[in-house]
Amino acid sequence: MGLQIADRWFEFETLTDGIIRIWEPYVIRVAQCNIWHVRGRDRDLLIDTGMGIASLHAAARHLFDKALSAVATHTHFDHVGSLHEFEDRIAHPAEAENLSVPSANFSMYSADHSPQITASLERAGYEIGPTYITALPRADFNMTEFTFPAAPATRLVDEGDVIDLGDRVFEVFHLPGHSPGSIGLWENATGILFSGDAIYDGPLLDDIPGSDIAVYCDTMTRLAQLPARVVHAGHDPSFDGRRLKQLAWDYLKRRA
Ligand SMILES: [Zn+2]
Repeated sequence: MGLQIADRWFEFETLTDGIIRIWEPYVIRVAQCNIWHVRGRDRDLLIDTGMGIASLHAAARHLFDKALSAVATHTHFDHVGSLHEFEDRIAHPAEAENLSVPSANFSMYSADHSPQITASLERAGYEIGPTYITALPRADFNMTEFTFPAAPATRLVDEGDVIDLGDRVFEVFHLPGHSPGSIGLWENATGILFSGDAIYDGPLLDDIPGSDIAVYCDTMTRLAQLPARVVHAGHDPSFDGRRLKQLAWDYLKRRA
């Protein structure tokens, strides 16, 4: 295949509010998930875990100096690859079952994905190359054999549940539409929303297996009214509350 070997697999960016963004630059955009690390007093939070191609736990070891809860905003393979590396795993019940075989629909090769799925990603605006990665994480990495292990949830959360870090509290929002068990985490004190793939500033996916446009419209109506200061999403750059409203209304104009 002639792919180069990456110097390092993960990139890190320190933001305000005790938040670090981690991402995998050699994963194509449609599957390049934002991984969020959030500092709390008693416990930290890890929101999504990327592709699992390289060890997130090893690469980000310097961050893991206290109790940690790892949250899956939903169970698409680009968000749960390294979830098995963490002991405390939080997900929504509607997708908990997927975590027993989280790499079921995973392949590095675009040709292995159904033509309907690839067509719907391309319709949404993504470029899908022959492989989902543009470099190898290490010389002996086998693209054909790669799978990632089961990562059963140790805690299920639904609308209104709370994840308490000691000095900061995140409320769970159930935001279905992109997928049935999509959740967001809302910090009321700061107006920060971690939105997963419910909303991001890029081509949204609503006609893939498990997505539901009518339900997605209800989620967008809700998001359009949320007094957010900043949204840290599952893909693409973070944005402010005005952009959140605009993205939600753009979707509703298109689909409602
Ligand atoms: Zn997704």
